[in-house]
Amino acid sequence: MKRFKIIVLLLGIALLPIRGFAQDTDTELPNIKILATGGTIAGSAASATSGSYSAGQIGIQTMINAVPGIKKIADVSGEQVSNVGSQDMTVEIWLKLANRINELLASDDVDGIVVTHGTDTQEETAYFLSLVVKSDKPVVTTGSMRSSTSISAEGPLNLYNAVAIAADENAKGKGVMLSLNDQIHNARDVSKMNTTNVNSFASPIKGMLGGVFYGRLGFFREPNTKFGKTSEFSVTGITKLPRVDIIYAYTDMSPDLIDMHVKAGAEGIVIAGVGNGNMTEATLKAAKKAYEDHGVIIVRSTRVATGWVLRDNEFKDDDYHTVVSGDLNPAKARILLMLSLSKGKKLTEMQQLFDTY
Ligand code: ASP
Repeated sequence: MKRFKIIVLLLGIALLPIRGFAQDTDTELPNIKILATGGTIAGSAASATSGSYSAGQIGIQTMINAVPGIKKIADVSGEQVSNVGSQDMTVEIWLKLANRINELLASDDVDGIVVTHGTDTQEETAYFLSLVVKSDKPVVTTGSMRSSTSISAEGPLNLYNAVAIAADENAKGKGVMLSLNDQIHNARDVSKMNTTNVNSFASPIKGMLGGVFYGRLGFFREPNTKFGKTSEFSVTGITKLPRVDIIYAYTDMSPDLIDMHVKAGAEGIVIAGVGNGNMTEATLKAAKKAYEDHGVIIVRSTRVATGWVLRDNEFKDDDYHTVVSGDLNPAKARILLMLSLSKGKKLTEMQQLFDTY
């Protein structure tokens, strides 16, 4: 009996390192899924010093392989959802992406998601996802301004940082985040502010959510609007969204633009207004008529890069049946209006939604 005990003890000691090794690889690293959609991060050019390139050329596995050390911070695996320049992003791809993210995050095997995406419309996809992803687990979108074949391509470091954020316990419950250039932004608050610079994104009103430096990260503040699990919006059972158009306002703007969009089938229109969401008096009257005659909801946003659009500023919004976007930029106001209309929301409920999300 004594000999048997000694043999079991020796066997246990001999097996310890094997069990320890298995734990290191299988259970300690968080499981992060990278969903690739295209963009410049997946783009390539004929020359490393040319600014001309084609977006959405290389696949997710090539992108992962280009990031040194990524496998040390997370157990990563990739899926190709689409491979487009984000100027060609569609509602159809949004729905596919959102459904897949919800499916993955519902599993105990996935701890966080990274979405690689072109920068042109990344803030739109991120905001859309923030309203319809039903999980507290981190979702981080990233991309790059330089193509994968460019001199000093920043895509691999952006992807490394995005994976580090998605794998971080402190990133839970912060909604969808957008990270490029060592910055962490709240999906709702961020805008692309520069057409070519690697420092292209900013949250001009509320500031960054946090920062990340070679995978080390910290958060400075919390998001202060509704998103994620507490959002009333979802993609369940949705196959398309109502048409909402954006009209850019300018000096001597003609009111027939509103009529043209209504005729084309828009159920809602966002005006990228001048200043505090303004437009010519004639356009305002056309907006009022669009609602009275066709039930088309008009949201006043602004073409100005930063600042709120406030209700009842130079006229009474109730007199023209207009809704104000607050600090949501026109592209994001369009998304909120599309989702609200898809839920059958009425004008009477609309301002409350814009004040909440
Ligand atoms: N046009 C590209 C895109 O949005 C630009 C980029 O990714 O930086 O896909």
